[in-house]
Amino acid sequence: MDFQRLLDEIAHRLMHEAGREGAVASYIPALARVSGAHFGIALRTCEGEEASAGDGRLPFSIQSISKLFTLTLAMRHMSEDALWARIGREPSGNPFNSLVQLESEQGKPRNPFINAGAIAVADRLVGLYGADAKGELLAFMSHLAGEPIGFDHEVAASEAATGYRNYALANFMKSFGKLDHDVDTVLDFYFHQCALSMSALQLARTAGYLCRDGAHPCREGAQVVTERQARRINALMLTCGTYDAAGDVAFHIGLPCKSGVGGGIVAVVPDRLTLAVWSPALDATGNSLLGMKALALFAQRTGLSIF
Ligand code: GLU
Repeated sequence: MDFQRLLDEIAHRLMHEAGREGAVASYIPALARVSGAHFGIALRTCEGEEASAGDGRLPFSIQSISKLFTLTLAMRHMSEDALWARIGREPSGNPFNSLVQLESEQGKPRNPFINAGAIAVADRLVGLYGADAKGELLAFMSHLAGEPIGFDHEVAASEAATGYRNYALANFMKSFGKLDHDVDTVLDFYFHQCALSMSALQLARTAGYLCRDGAHPCREGAQVVTERQARRINALMLTCGTYDAAGDVAFHIGLPCKSGVGGGIVAVVPDRLTLAVWSPALDATGNSLLGMKALALFAQRTGLSIF
């Protein structure tokens, strides 16, 4: 299949719609001032072929997509029992930053892709790496991307300055004895992971292990996670990766996806490719409006789906 041509066609069709509908995330100034008029798309096949179109090479704030990579990092280094003792694996059916469910479930987050779950994962990584945790995350991302990946420090600082609800979630978990480390240290890590700055092409490459049964995206013979772990991450993406739209995404697109409020979405076609899209204007569910349209078009045109 001529993927470059297909991505060019999708970009050509959607770029003129960019920013017409939906709304860019506005909870911090650094995201509010991003133009809604961007659209980028990129992919990397299991064999290493890459293609990108539109703004596919422009960096943006990956936000919640980072939850995928911190979970992967924790899975690499922890026993299953230790990791899952404090985090569930069920869709939440509640907003990604909801406190209500956390209270009724005694501080155990429903899954690793809602904020509380990602904060619990961050707590584990702070435990594993101590003061080096942010550096270890950057090293891991850069190792997968094959080039240096960095934080947008302005975004990280704004996340911290306005992260009242995340402070509430973390303090709440701490009060239930479900967070081992200092709330400020854990949240400093969490705010930085949200502030990772990457392009769609870098994301498609970095997530490449998810379509390669856990094998490193470009280093032959190196394993990022086991095949079983890669399957499990994909299963969580399908059921919990797109806020409250996971059912609709499975229905219309049929691929494991993880999205972020920066307007990015990563999708996996197991054994074939990883695809990433970016368009900052979000729909009512908090997912990129054109990003979802692009994924649906891609699935339609290629017939690629896990079902
Ligand atoms: N920084 C955002 C928060 O923690 C991330 C939200 C997201 O992308 O879902 O609220």
